[in-house]
Amino acid sequence: MNPKKITVALAGNPNSGKTTIFNALTGARQHVGNYPGVTVEQKEGFRTVKGYEIRFVDLPGTYSLTAHSIEEVVARDFIFREQPDLVVDVIDASNFERNLYLTTQLLELNVPMLLALNMSDVAEKQGFAFDDRKLSAFFASPVVHTVGSKGKGIERLLAGIIKELDHPSEEPKPHISYGKDIKRELDKIEAVVDQEHQLVSKYGKTWLALKLLEQDEDILTKGHTEETLAVARQSAEALEQIYGDRADILVAEKRYGYVSGVYEQTVKRTIERRHDISDCIDKILLNRVLGLPLFLGLMYLVFMLTFSLGEYPMGWIESGFGWLGEVVSSWWPAGSQSPLKSLLVDGIIGGVGGVIIFLPNILFLFLAIALLEDSGYMARAAFLMDRVMKKMGLHGKSFIPMLIGFGCSVPAIMGTRILEDRKARLATIMTIPLMSCGARFPIYALIIPCFFATEWRGFMMWLIYVIGVLLAILCTIVLRKTFLKGDSGLFLLELPPYRMPTLRGLAIHMWERSWLYLKKAGTVILMISIILWALTSYPKPDADRLENLSPEAAQQAELQHSVAGRLGKIMEPVIRPLGFDYRIGTALIGALAAKEVFVSQMAIVFSVGEEQQESQALRDKLKANYTPLQGFCVMLFCLISAPCVATLAITRRETGSWGWALLQFGGLTVLAYALTLAVYQIGLIIQ
Ligand code: GDP
Ligand code: MG
Repeated sequence: MNPKKITVALAGNPNSGKTTIFNALTGARQHVGNYPGVTVEQKEGFRTVKGYEIRFVDLPGTYSLTAHSIEEVVARDFIFREQPDLVVDVIDASNFERNLYLTTQLLELNVPMLLALNMSDVAEKQGFAFDDRKLSAFFASPVVHTVGSKGKGIERLLAGIIKELDHPSEEPKPHISYGKDIKRELDKIEAVVDQEHQLVSKYGKTWLALKLLEQDEDILTKGHTEETLAVARQSAEALEQIYGDRADILVAEKRYGYVSGVYEQTVKRTIERRHDISDCIDKILLNRVLGLPLFLGLMYLVFMLTFSLGEYPMGWIESGFGWLGEVVSSWWPAGSQSPLKSLLVDGIIGGVGGVIIFLPNILFLFLAIALLEDSGYMARAAFLMDRVMKKMGLHGKSFIPMLIGFGCSVPAIMGTRILEDRKARLATIMTIPLMSCGARFPIYALIIPCFFATEWRGFMMWLIYVIGVLLAILCTIVLRKTFLKGDSGLFLLELPPYRMPTLRGLAIHMWERSWLYLKKAGTVILMISIILWALTSYPKPDADRLENLSPEAAQQAELQHSVAGRLGKIMEPVIRPLGFDYRIGTALIGALAAKEVFVSQMAIVFSVGEEQQESQALRDKLKANYTPLQGFCVMLFCLISAPCVATLAITRRETGSWGWALLQFGGLTVLAYALTLAVYQIGLIIQ
């Protein structure tokens, strides 16, 4: 039988020991020529072993695969042209982190790969120890240690190559996550480049899109359509606008993030080595003892500032809506019971306005989150949580979608796609609603100032967020230990370098979320407010039944007569042990549609049928009607209980079954009930 002809390329940084290994593998059977068209030397050697005739090619040594040098273009062109059966990445293990940059680019090429950790003698002396199993998983490639100069490990390397040829790894190559902004631009470019069939079949559309975004000089001249070039240029410019750096630099940073993540998770060093600025900051922020308290402290600072900075503009908007309500009321004679007036003033201005007044707080909250994200800190937060979660048999990768959950559960649940393991993913989906989303924020922002002194407000907000995070982690653990049992497997957390966020980038990211909030207020919340206003206003009791009652009692009687009031009354026996009355009950029903509706419905409940003259701010009414304990219980219940309709719908879609969505709904509601009941009853005793 003729031996099977195979090509194996050796790639690696200059001086990683490629040629030494090449010589050791091929012995005297070498041939030196030039790569086509250029004066870069191409060394080929042959070895026949176990039914394979292997042609080894010593690629030019490069640090990268950009188009900055002829060697880089030659190396990557060779891979595209000749499609080697295997690329052996020769890594100088004593310069591990720097060498990995090339490895991540080989990963982007999606070629079958084997990692040869050469210079392992030097690495050992320098105090490096590698976790081969993890390293192998992070690149979906086998790992072999070699000392090329002493011929050590060469047989192992050859055996590894044969094994890979006999049984190529089936594992899909992991993807480097470029972040949502870069990903969005890549998707745009992929969509247009898709039509260039020849180029796509040669380079693959993912890689092409990436290089076009990087404005790679070589790839730009490959004969793309004008449209593709224009889209790529626009995308590169759009990113530059947001981050103030060229797109290729931004992409490179994400690769460095992957590299740092691999380094942090696969290398143990007994001797200190790294010293750049990111490392120095990380030494403090990722410190085993200080890291977590610093994270919690930072979050506290965020909420404190959100409150204190948001307070004034919030007051202005609140007075603005108050004024608007008065203007609209004045269109009718004093004491008028016109339904249209009530709809406009109580339903729309009161309901929607009740939600919109929190826009300043939302802006500050998302500004702070954008700051933490754009600077690279959020990736560290996942890292910190990973340590905690690992101790409990979980991995921090679940925490990344959870962090998105601070904005909204819907994209967060979609974000769980990064979790390859289905059970881990399901467990995360189920618990994501426990992360306080932007829609729950107005509920907290309404209630906290009613019952808590100024200096405690930031703390209370922080507390409710932390309770959510802890519950999410706890529930995930319970799920993973019970009916979603399974090994967490390996996950890579990326550590992008810190960067100074640009004003423009912050503004864009802050506005993206805030605009969604406003839009939601103007559409969904508006619609639901109108419906709830009607349900809260009708049917009306006979006028003579209200005659002898005080204005307040009349308002209550009217409310209790309405559909919403009656529903609330039906619920009351069930929710009374939690400290809730029928008015809160009606708002809880509304909150199912969207959490913000809790706020607008409370506004409606307390203003329908009220004499306009004595109109007070909603907060004062709440203060007069409920205790701080009740206030806290409302927040707790809203935090934990049934997620909104949109969340349930996305859970159904992502899990593929209503069963999971219903379980999420039921499970969280039962949990909310049990916990709130405990807190309220214990609170009553202590009080
Ligand atoms: P290339 O640029 O990647 O082709 O690297 P070379 O093969 O020319 O090797 C560069 C230098 O490193 C040479 O002096 C080799 O002898 C030395 N070298 C190669 N492998 C090892 C190794 O595993 N350990 C040590 N200590 N030196 C090595
Ligand atoms: Mg060489």
